[in-house]
Amino acid sequence: MADVADVEKVDVEAVNARRKRAPLYAARKSIHPMRVSGTFRRLKWRLMAVMLAIYYITPWIRWDRGEGLPDQAVLIDMAHRRFFFFFIEIWPQEFYYVAGMLIMAGVGLFLVTSVLGRAWCGYACPQTVWVDLFLHVERWIEGRRNARIRLEKAPWTMDKIVKRGTKYLIWLLIAVATGGAWVFYFADAPTLFVDLFTGEAATVAYATIAVLTATTFIFGGFMREQVCTYMCPWPRIQGAMLDENSLTVTYNDWRGEPRGRHRKGEGADKLGDCVDCNMCVAVCPMGIDIRDGSQLECITCALCIDACNGVMAKTGGLPNLISYSSLNAYEAHAEGKETPRLLKVIFRPRTLIYMGLWAAVGIAMLVMLGVRDRLDVNVLHDRNPQYVTLSDGSIRNGFTVKLLNMEQKPRRVLLAISGLPDALMTVAGDDFWPSKTREYELAADKVLTLHVFVTTPAGSVEPGATNFRISVIDLVGIEQANYGAIFYAPEN
Ligand code: SF4
Ligand code: SF4
Repeated sequence: MADVADVEKVDVEAVNARRKRAPLYAARKSIHPMRVSGTFRRLKWRLMAVMLAIYYITPWIRWDRGEGLPDQAVLIDMAHRRFFFFFIEIWPQEFYYVAGMLIMAGVGLFLVTSVLGRAWCGYACPQTVWVDLFLHVERWIEGRRNARIRLEKAPWTMDKIVKRGTKYLIWLLIAVATGGAWVFYFADAPTLFVDLFTGEAATVAYATIAVLTATTFIFGGFMREQVCTYMCPWPRIQGAMLDENSLTVTYNDWRGEPRGRHRKGEGADKLGDCVDCNMCVAVCPMGIDIRDGSQLECITCALCIDACNGVMAKTGGLPNLISYSSLNAYEAHAEGKETPRLLKVIFRPRTLIYMGLWAAVGIAMLVMLGVRDRLDVNVLHDRNPQYVTLSDGSIRNGFTVKLLNMEQKPRRVLLAISGLPDALMTVAGDDFWPSKTREYELAADKVLTLHVFVTTPAGSVEPGATNFRISVIDLVGIEQANYGAIFYAPEN
């Protein structure tokens, strides 16, 4: 008879044993960053002011393009399918310029990241800028860090209701202004501003403002660092773009450790420069401790550098215990070797490739912008029927022809057909004799659509498809646009 004592008990534990399983959800711990002053904080204030000014003011800048054209400097005109950017006007068929700008923005971001780490996240990302703005309001209403922590824990007294209510109201006003500014990029700003208040704006404008107001209010006021840590893919992508020469915010533990609380001069021989004051943690908007090493959460805002430099000034230590440093520079320091020069860090093969790519796309776009056509012709062959045999045996094909005048002034043009020696054209709605050419006046920045019939005498074209050209020629300038069209005749 078998005995349970014969079965050996193996000393093993499931890697995800239930009693040790950590919950998948962890509630957010509130972060109340302390106010800090210093070089990087000042830089952030200035960049924030510039970026907010650009965002809010741009739609209000006027630009005279002449009669009948919008006088808004930057306008995405969905109704007429145009993008206006000061003196540049992009038509739908020139969308490759927008693609080029996106490529330049992407390569520029790669370049900045490989040199300066997550500088975009720390200084220029809208989430960072708006969270900073919301935090500033919070400090203004609720006070310093300790006062904010006390207020959060306090019961809902009248004082708390008033403070929180005022804060939320100001956040909401900023959020509405943010959503409102966005829609002004898509219509004439002064007109839309009045329409919004008189209830005459399009429903989509109100809906867009509502969505952007809600996202700004929630992301900037409540979710804050969680957007960067959990929602944004950029920290993961950036991890792959950083290398040992990229500058990131680094705690120089070769200088700071062993950390300890010592007075000026005391124990300097045993302890490092870090006095373990936790100021670097208290000012961090992400709530992390940079002394634990490089972390995905760190947005390299450098506020911990400012905080620590302030502490070093008080303790008589040298600045930059926390500093912008590359992995190579950090290791060289730790080993007492010479650190790589900044110019070598910036101009290395990887960054030079990014710079070259960025410049190449930029120059190509500038050249294309300088030589691009401002006159174009688009042709669509009638499908049903492809051709018509008339009573005298001649063959007729119909085409929808669009003449595009992309200049901001009217121009006189000649519409012409060539490549079919005996063919003549007529245009629906006009009573001219059949001819090979027709003159038209094109309005500024407009498309003229014509229904053109091309007719060839019996037996003058080969059966099947014959290539020919439909052209539009500027009668004053030198521009000409051609379209390779096909004339269909019956296959016997
Ligand atoms: S602020 Fe500087 S001194 Fe204070 S804990 Fe951080 S690293 Fe140490
Ligand atoms: S660790 Fe320093 S650089 Fe990183 S997010 Fe916090 S304060 Fe900014």
